[in-house]
Amino acid sequence: MAGKIAIVGGGISGLALAYYLARAEKKVTLYEASSEFGGLGSQFEFNGNYFEKFYHCMLPTDDSLLKLLSELKLEREVYWKESQFGYYHQGQIYPLNTASDLLKFKPLSFLGRLRLGASGIYTTLHSGKNLDRITFREWIIPVCGNETYQKFFRPLLAAKFGGAADGVPALWFWARFNREKGAKKEVKGYIRGGYRRIVAALSQACKARGATLLSDQPVSGVSAADNGALEVIVPEGSFIFDAVVATCPLPLLFDIVRDDKVAGGLEKYRSIDYAGVINTVIFLKEPLKLGYWTATPEEQLPFQGIVNLSALIDIDDLAGEYPVHLMYYCHRNSEQYRRNTESTRDEFSDAFVRHFLAGQSSKIKESFCFKAPFVEPLFSTGFLEQKPVFELLPGHFYLCTTPQVYPEVASWNSSIQLARELSRVIERA
Ligand SMILES: Cc1cc2nc3c(=O)[nH]c(=O)nc-3n(C[C@H](O)[C@H](O)[C@H](O)COP(=O)(O)OP(=O)(O)OC[C@H]3O[C@@H](n4cnc5c(N)ncnc54)[C@H](O)[C@@H]3O)c2cc1C
Repeated sequence: MAGKIAIVGGGISGLALAYYLARAEKKVTLYEASSEFGGLGSQFEFNGNYFEKFYHCMLPTDDSLLKLLSELKLEREVYWKESQFGYYHQGQIYPLNTASDLLKFKPLSFLGRLRLGASGIYTTLHSGKNLDRITFREWIIPVCGNETYQKFFRPLLAAKFGGAADGVPALWFWARFNREKGAKKEVKGYIRGGYRRIVAALSQACKARGATLLSDQPVSGVSAADNGALEVIVPEGSFIFDAVVATCPLPLLFDIVRDDKVAGGLEKYRSIDYAGVINTVIFLKEPLKLGYWTATPEEQLPFQGIVNLSALIDIDDLAGEYPVHLMYYCHRNSEQYRRNTESTRDEFSDAFVRHFLAGQSSKIKESFCFKAPFVEPLFSTGFLEQKPVFELLPGHFYLCTTPQVYPEVASWNSSIQLARELSRVIERA
């Protein structure tokens, strides 16, 4: 294929794809709607320093991400820390990291604890085969029992998928569990300087290979032009490309691609819906004495989990700040998502102060609230067959989006892996 390619979206999928295509000597122009690159991994400024709007970390099993970092000469900037998981239940935090923690895990009966341990072993040993057509609920209850499912697994799934929790395919859980527990010791990684450092290095590498990256350029239309080429409309004008790759969330793409010749292949993905997230970032005056990740699946709390970045990120990188993220996954049309950001931020902060800071609001420096409407698809059984293909209009219109990483977990690693696979497809076309 001749090499003039437009990429819609400058999150990690778009940037990684621009890098791989530019490396293969394609002429790439990337259009990003917002003023910055990085998508869900982008940052905000506080006290002259930058912090992620949504918490991000790496896992030792993130092979594609780590390989890319090595190509960008950033591998030495990654550091790893042992990470601790806790479970908040009736005013107490129960660590859940070792066999001994499991035996002392009071939210479950003793038998429930043993069955929870058995579910972990069962999931690790399973090959993953045939798990797409069965729900996690149907698959795991014979092993973990109803009590452990209802009191432990279901609240965790509901925290991410809401009412769709019981329909989540076993394959999704299996992939997630094995990604996180794949290493011998449970560690998580971060990069000195934060994820913006990856974005900066990747952008620079793209430009060095001749790619053009444009921010503040929302694509408002993609339609058919002569000889199979495609026209892309952005605020700067309309431009002709041999091929276009969309990396933005699918629901946004339906507003952009209205030309039947191009949109034909897209229509069957209209039913793919996404979970969104509300994330409140609280800056504390001193570090919180909690592990990296604490699940808070209790109805009286407005958030479903706490991510304590001081447990992962080096103090120098945090520039003396102690950020804690409180998240709530929900649909973009839900009441919670549509509430105004300030009242959500205050509600999260108040509950956090009451339950985790012994009522001392003076321990908080500042808090911010961010929302993202499209984080991960609401999966149902048989998603492997619904999963979007790369090529919508052969040789001309391609997709490189989060639903395609299934059953991998939506992450920078899986987006980079997908971008690498698609770049090979385009190179061969
Ligand atoms: C709370 C939270 C925690 C997470 N934690 C982790 C983690 O610990 N580790 C990890 O690896 N991953 C994590 N992720 C997931 C990770 O952020 C995503 O999987 C990844 O960023 C998806 O990248 P993307 O480029 O496909 O999509 P996005 O990041 O959504 O990028 C899409 C881009 O397209 C742009 N766009 C949209 N419409 C248009 C248009 N019309 N024209 C031009 N541009 C457009 C958007 O502005 C955006 O920049 C987390 C996500 C969230 C929300």
